[in-house]
Parts: sequence; C-alpha cells; structure tokens
Amino acid sequence: MLSYKHEFHAGNFADVLKHTVLIQILNYLRQKDKGFCYIDTHAGSGDYSLTSEQAQKNREFDEGIGQLWQRQDLPDAVSDYLTMIKRFNPPTQLKRYPGSPLIAQQLLRPQDRLIACELHNTEIKLLARALPKHKYIKIYHDDGFKQTLALLPPIERRGLVLVDPSYELKSDYRQVTDALIEYHKRFATGVYALWYPVIKRSRIRTLEKTLQNSGMNDLLLVELCIRPDSENDGMTGCGMIIINPPWTLAPTMKTVLPWLANVLSQNNSGSYQLKILAKH
Ligand code: SAM
Repeated sequence: MLSYKHEFHAGNFADVLKHTVLIQILNYLRQKDKGFCYIDTHAGSGDYSLTSEQAQKNREFDEGIGQLWQRQDLPDAVSDYLTMIKRFNPPTQLKRYPGSPLIAQQLLRPQDRLIACELHNTEIKLLARALPKHKYIKIYHDDGFKQTLALLPPIERRGLVLVDPSYELKSDYRQVTDALIEYHKRFATGVYALWYPVIKRSRIRTLEKTLQNSGMNDLLLVELCIRPDSENDGMTGCGMIIINPPWTLAPTMKTVLPWLANVLSQNNSGSYQLKILAKH
C-alpha cells in the first residue's frame, strides 16, 4: 500500500538539491548531439500546485525553493535551477512546482527520449496528464525498479537514470543498491543518480559501503543537511550518489553545496559533504 504523496514535499530543500543536480547532468548530456535516454524510476505526478491543501499543510517549499525565489546572488547552477522553476510560474509568484519528469522534459531535444515509471494509481494518472503526448515520451504504470532493468541498456547507449524512491519501506535502502548494481552490469557507461534522505546515518553509511564494494569505479556523493544528524528529528538532510558523474559535476557542487548549506540551513546548523567514493 503506497501512501507517500510528493505534493506534501514538493519544492522542499531535498527537491532543490535533487533538481539542481538533475539539471546539471542533463545539461552535460546535451553538450553532444547524439541522443540520450532519461529514465525516471520513481516519477511522481510531475506537476505540483503549491497552493493545494497538501502543499500548504507543512509548507515545506518555504524552506526550499521559497528561500531562493527572490535572491539575486545565486551560483550559476542554482540560477539554472531557479530559471527552470520560473518557467512554470507567473513572473513574480511561486505557485507551481515541476517534478523531475517535467524538468527533464524541458531539457530534452528531438533526438532524446524520456521514460517515466510510477506505481501509484492516482499519481500515474496525473503524470499522464502532466506530460505531453509525444513519441519520445513513454510512461509505465509499474514497479520502476523492475521496469528500468528491462529497459537497459537503452538503444542510444547514452543516458541518465534517476532513482528517487520514497523510502516508505526500510527495504528500499537495500533495493536501491541491488537495483543499481544490476543496472550497472547491463549498462556500465550510463549515468545514475540515486537520491537518499538522511534520517538514520547508519543507513547511509551502509549505502555508501555497498556501492563502494560493488566494484563500480566512478562514484560521487553530494549531501546537504539543514540540521545536525538526529534519529528523532525526521529528515535532517539528503544526498545523492552519482555513478559515472560528468567531470564537471564535482567542481560545480563545490560552489553550490556550501552556498545552499548556508542559505537553507536552520539555526546556522547546516552542513554539506562532497566526497569521491570511488575513482579508479
Ligand atoms: N522523482 C520525483 C520528483 O523528483 O519530482 C519524486 C518522486 S517521489 C519521491 C517517489 C514516487 O515513487 C512516489 O510518487 C511513489 O508513488 C512512487 N513509487 C513508490 N514505489 C514505486 C515503485 N516501486 N515503482 C515506481 N514508483 C514508485
């Protein structure tokens, strides 16, 4: 039974990090003319109203996109992100927040493809409405972990897979690493971006170790915490592990992470990590 709804969280600090990284990777892939395939294993409903009852409940976007909306002093990558979110909104008002499939769709060219998987019965209907009907866009109402495995390697032999589950089940932590190891066996040159929440630090250590011990040879971790680690304080931070990251990503995030940690942190208790987990 799936109960997670991204609408409660859309535009929060975790989306800021995830979607900033997503845009940087897609912009890198766009530098070559050859087409690529973007796969979103856990796509969500794609388009979120920030005035809805759900979004207004905890107004998580106030601590994410809301902190950036009026600022002029953004690092380039955060500016790319804000420009993207502004495309979905009237000039001065923040009313809507695009999810990862809609952001990616804006950056695809005619030679690229988008594949989005979503399991939830309501979210998939909303997603089908949010994405344009086009032959280069395919939506699967299915388990994204399994469906993605069946789609690899993509015919283009170039691509990005975003793995962004809701971690409703503890088993998701195990399932993400199992899935990534299998994906990498089928498509070793693909770029993979795994998002994770920092709720219990020991789970993240296990995640890191499992991927490090898997033999993958190019792994980057980026993490943003808005509060100190605590097991009784919900999600205090979040991060991404990127397999085969563009070479430009680490230098970009070196500027972005301290800036975000400073701007989005609560009570000046923010922190960040930028770690190369493997480079052979
Ligand atoms: N990637 C989206 C974004 O950045 O805008 C947010 C996705 S949200 C964190 C996770 C989504 O995964 C939820 O909409 C949930 O219904 C969906 N989901 C949960 N289990 C799934 C599965 N096994 N396969 C595909 N989707 C799943």
